[in-house]
Amino acid sequence: MALMITDECINCDVCEPECPNQAIYLGPEIYEIDPDKCTECVGHFDEPQCVQVCPVACIPVNPQRIENRETLWQKYQRLTGKVDDAAAAPAAPGPQS
Ligand code: SF4
Ligand code: SF4
Repeated sequence: MALMITDECINCDVCEPECPNQAIYLGPEIYEIDPDKCTECVGHFDEPQCVQVCPVACIPVNPQRIENRETLWQKYQRLTGKVDDAAAAPAAPGPQS
């Protein structure tokens, strides 16, 4: 799921630098989240970082962008260029020098 920022946002600037995907930006009135970049922090953190830091809890799930974890993972891979045909194989085999 992508997240979204509601109009309860007080423009405190805390969440924007915490986003690993640079999905948060200052819109015309309040901060906003680009749903094409928000992976709910999948690939980076266990918990959505913006939700963790928001002092007014105004970052719910975007009802227009309900996505499962696999879709979020694919979004993460697309954003980072880490496209991997092998299904989720995070272990990196090979000698370590
Ligand atoms: S959930 Fe993570 S990726 Fe999405 S906007 Fe918040 S900090 Fe960024
Ligand atoms: S942390 Fe919350 S209140 Fe602060 S700018 Fe982000 S969404 Fe708005």
